[in-house]
Amino acid sequence: MSDAELVLRSTRVVTPEGTRAAAVAVSAGRIAAVLPHDAEVPAAARLEDLGDHVLLPGLVDTHVHVNDPGRTEWEGFWTATRAAVAGGVTTLVDMPLNSLPPTTTVEHLRVKRAVAADKAHVDVGFWGGALPGNVKDLRPLHDAGVFGFKAFLSPSGVDEFPHLDQERLAASLAEIAGFGGLLIVHAEDPHHLAAAPQHGGPRYADFLASRPRGAEDTAIAGLIAQARRLDARVHVLHLSSGDALPLIRAARAEGVRITVETCPHYLTLTAEEVPDGASEFKCCPPIREAANQDLLWEALADGTIDCVVTDHSPSTADLKTDDFATAWGGISGLQLSLSAVWTEARRRGHGLEDVVRWMSARTAALVGLGAAKGAIAPGRDADFAVLAPDETFTVDPAGLQHRNRVTAYAGRTLYGVVKSTWLRGERIVENGVFTAPKGLLLSRPH
Ligand SMILES: [Zn+2]
Repeated sequence: MSDAELVLRSTRVVTPEGTRAAAVAVSAGRIAAVLPHDAEVPAAARLEDLGDHVLLPGLVDTHVHVNDPGRTEWEGFWTATRAAVAGGVTTLVDMPLNSLPPTTTVEHLRVKRAVAADKAHVDVGFWGGALPGNVKDLRPLHDAGVFGFKAFLSPSGVDEFPHLDQERLAASLAEIAGFGGLLIVHAEDPHHLAAAPQHGGPRYADFLASRPRGAEDTAIAGLIAQARRLDARVHVLHLSSGDALPLIRAARAEGVRITVETCPHYLTLTAEEVPDGASEFKCCPPIREAANQDLLWEALADGTIDCVVTDHSPSTADLKTDDFATAWGGISGLQLSLSAVWTEARRRGHGLEDVVRWMSARTAALVGLGAAKGAIAPGRDADFAVLAPDETFTVDPAGLQHRNRVTAYAGRTLYGVVKSTWLRGERIVENGVFTAPKGLLLSRPH
């Protein structure tokens, strides 16, 4: 570590081999070595002694809707990436909708990158979109560096991003499999949804009944069949239905290349506690019952669910009406995801090593960034979150950094206070003070 410019010392450093007292040497923005806690610090290096605060790899959130440009009144790169920093997230991957344009052609990707370039407080990558009629754009987008392609199997909520029927799904997936790409899927079956009771109004029970577990289960079964037939790599976004887990386990066992994510709100909030009219809790698929939540935690523990991502999807407050049928669906959790998941994880007997695996290591691996991100290990980027895991705070929307301070977590008391966040060896926030944006725009590694 003789050429280290920075040494971070903590009694609790979360490494792939476990949590231990260590000194992490940083050189040129990367982790040079993980040394014993009492290792001698070179004269030229700055020492940051974190005491008993925990040093984690920065989180990698692969499911964020930044909506910039085009719906920047909902969210933008400046505010979303500051929320990320405040929450210990050092890399995010932006979803191809609800910006205008959506990220469905190389030209649209260029527009998005130009908008993000000087606003990114953390590293930012991009998903592309698979729509009816853009099969010809998929390979050029892949070559231009998107991390994979998102498709909906039911209406997305915005007109410019239509869903794929089974025939078009097959066509897009065949093309993507042909160049070794990844398809990520919002899996709810439109026929199943259409057959469900659609009462509308403020009752959460009615909304829940309108998006039944069976819609997810049917869509996932169909996706598995297509992935098997085409030997394609697919990823299930925001799994909410615990009933789909046996299908996923069976598919994995026979070698189907399928990965799965779930979200903090499915893991920490339950249908039973959502007040009627409280559409800050609305998302699709919906937050389900406590018994369903137990199934998701079991699947995280046994590895069936690979990772946890926010699906941060804000809108302006006026679109969050008290009618669940027409209110905008999306939960804004970027800044609170680490604390929310950690609070429930610790209650269920999990350690921070598990949270890091779900929210950093596995998400980095999902998008091919496993060599650069997701672990405190030599050669990785020096991206860190410093956490006081036993301190609590009560969520006050006024303290949130995302543009519209609507949150389903308001008033909750959470464990885990993010003390500082570091990007490539530079502290980018401390005590609520942010540096100028230093994030890079990332492309899929070749
Ligand atoms: Zn989403």
